[in-house]
Amino acid sequence: MIHKIPKQIAIYGKGGIGKSSTASNVAAACADEGHRVTIIGCDPKSDSSITLLRGRRIPTIMDLMREGMDIREEDIVFSGYKGVRCVEIGGPEPGIGCAGRGIIVAIGILRKISRAIEDTDLVIYDVPGDIVCGGFVAPVKKGLVNEAYVLTSGEYMPLYAANNICKGLSRLEMTLNGVICNSRGAPNEETIVKEFAKEIGSQLLAFIPRDVLVQTCERDGFSVIEKAPDSAISGVYRKLATSIMAEKKSRIPMPLDDVRLRELTRI
Ligand code: ADP
Ligand code: MG
Repeated sequence: MIHKIPKQIAIYGKGGIGKSSTASNVAAACADEGHRVTIIGCDPKSDSSITLLRGRRIPTIMDLMREGMDIREEDIVFSGYKGVRCVEIGGPEPGIGCAGRGIIVAIGILRKISRAIEDTDLVIYDVPGDIVCGGFVAPVKKGLVNEAYVLTSGEYMPLYAANNICKGLSRLEMTLNGVICNSRGAPNEETIVKEFAKEIGSQLLAFIPRDVLVQTCERDGFSVIEKAPDSAISGVYRKLATSIMAEKKSRIPMPLDDVRLRELTRI
């Protein structure tokens, strides 16, 4: 039997920009298309999979590790919307420990007891914050991730974070597969992010409009794909899911200097 290597993607971007909402909706859209999907929440907030599990919080690998328990697959891998396998790594206690290091140890445990990241078509790593801390790039270095995406709006701070992520990736000689704009309603946002993507040598894969449905569905514990499948915003996530699953060119990004970055936000 031929085993295809799963697509293993990471979604990077500033905290609060919409990584978890995007990751969970893309996971649900891919599951609708019949793909086998695993989502790995790597953020201490451990809320990557909550909307795939009808609002249920699952135990995190880090929490169980701290309890010193003998972890079994059924303790950490949970089946969500249309069979999406959900795992939350969790985080260290605030002020002590390194989250990046914890991610590597936790994924090691996961791989030992489960085939969730091998027997699948798509693994989505929902990675916290900006990858300036060496620990967070470890999944990339360890070969756990083979595609990277960056999420940003057209505002300066998220673009600054996106550009920093590109610096990290280029230092590691890691390619970027696309930029996704999650709109915050800034003026000329699509033009700004499209231009940013072009100048770093990448492409804008999707423009996700700001839509209150994302928040209302999330509050009820659902993705928009599940709760509002016929909405326009679900259509946007479906299209993004299709372009993520497709083969596309990827290049090592060329980060911009700060002067140019500031100019861009004034288009
Ligand atoms: P991150 O994972 O990057 O920290 P989240 O995915 O948790 O960010 O999103 C932060 C907040 O923004 C959430 O309340 C989410 O519902 C909201 N949000 C994300 N994307 C959109 C969107 N396109 N339209 C409206 N609200 C959004
Ligand atoms: Mg998140």
